[in-house]
Amino acid sequence: MPTIIVHGGAGADPGQGREELRSGVRAAALAGWEILAANGRALDAVEWAVRALEDHPRFNAGLGSVLTSTGTLEMDASIMEGDRLGCGAVAAVSRVANPITLARRVLEGGRHVLLVAEGAHAVARATGVPECDPAALVTERQRRRHVEGSRVGVGGTVGAVALDRRGTVAAATSTGGMAGKQPGRVGDSALIGCGTYADNTLGGVSCTGDGEAIIRVVLARQALAYLKEADDVDYAARVAVDLLVEEGRGQGGLILVDWRGRTGWAHSTPLMPVALMSPALLEPRVPF
Ligand code: ASP
Repeated sequence: MPTIIVHGGAGADPGQGREELRSGVRAAALAGWEILAANGRALDAVEWAVRALEDHPRFNAGLGSVLTSTGTLEMDASIMEGDRLGCGAVAAVSRVANPITLARRVLEGGRHVLLVAEGAHAVARATGVPECDPAALVTERQRRRHVEGSRVGVGGTVGAVALDRRGTVAAATSTGGMAGKQPGRVGDSALIGCGTYADNTLGGVSCTGDGEAIIRVVLARQALAYLKEADDVDYAARVAVDLLVEEGRGQGGLILVDWRGRTGWAHSTPLMPVALMSPALLEPRVPF
């Protein structure tokens, strides 16, 4: 049964502005769902759901990404398809509005899994992914936050996990990273197994939160190990977040779809915008 779930990042509750987050994740779930409902691939569904959130200025990915300590922009993204464990990722890119599409080009290239900075931009040029001025991706809101030295907020990393009618699972994650990070820092969102994972025999996962903590416990792959153990999506999501907090020593959350299309999510932060869509629903569920 086809299913999609998307997240808009684990973080603090902004109080006001929740409606904007709700409509953002809802539209992203619908963008992916239209592809699945038309018999499309899970890989396309997660790419286009994430692109919708990258294009939305309120989320910390693509347009609206947070800034580094020196005021520059460095984005990470990864994507994976669960039938042959095909995966692609980019890190520290600054000149593409949709890093997730660039990660997909790396996947399609088949030779490498992770390309960074200029190496990744060279793939953009070679494969026709449009390049832009990094300044065009910096919003007034993030510029102000940088000037104020603010590191608190609603996270805003984005991700999607989907299952298509062929039984293929795919997962994708995209982020501007942690606000005020040191230039050159790469987080979990670019790392297969940490921020993103998909395996048709188990399911798919996209994570968000303190990247260093997520990397420490290899969170996405570990969540699927819990799923294998208990065959219960809620249990797997909850225990994985416990692991992140207790052994990873950080906060965050994740979304998950198992090979049968059951969805689960959990977070240790006050808020993690989520939206999901499946044939049983008339319109996306936005449970936050
Ligand atoms: N995990 C992302 C990173 O560390 C940030 C986030 O999810 O808010 O780069």
